[in-house]
Amino acid sequence: MAMQEFAKNNHPNEIIVLLRGSRKGDDFIITDFLLPPFGSGGHGFASFPVHMLPIDFTIMGTAHSHPSGVLKPSTGDFHNFYGRIMMILGPPYDQPRAAAYYKSGEQIPVKLASPPR
Ligand SMILES: [Zn+2]
Repeated sequence: MAMQEFAKNNHPNEIIVLLRGSRKGDDFIITDFLLPPFGSGGHGFASFPVHMLPIDFTIMGTAHSHPSGVLKPSTGDFHNFYGRIMMILGPPYDQPRAAAYYKSGEQIPVKLASPPR
């Protein structure tokens, strides 16, 4: 199942997933997503306990959904930043309804290479 599909199925609840992939130059290639252990989602709230995570260097960051459709990160999002990048998905959850950010707040262009199935 694609990440966008997962977000769509849980709408209007927020979802949060871990992004697995690799780094190639300035690009982050995301090939897979994982459900965080003990992740919880709800209205305007999605998080997971960071100390429960295994040490896994293929985790590039997280993605979560904003059912409101606003793709801008909230202050809370930056407080809960995990990994190198943060992606935000918005309804209807198809490209290009996604944005990605560094912890600095700088936006990263999102490209869809092939349908993530
Ligand atoms: Zn958020």
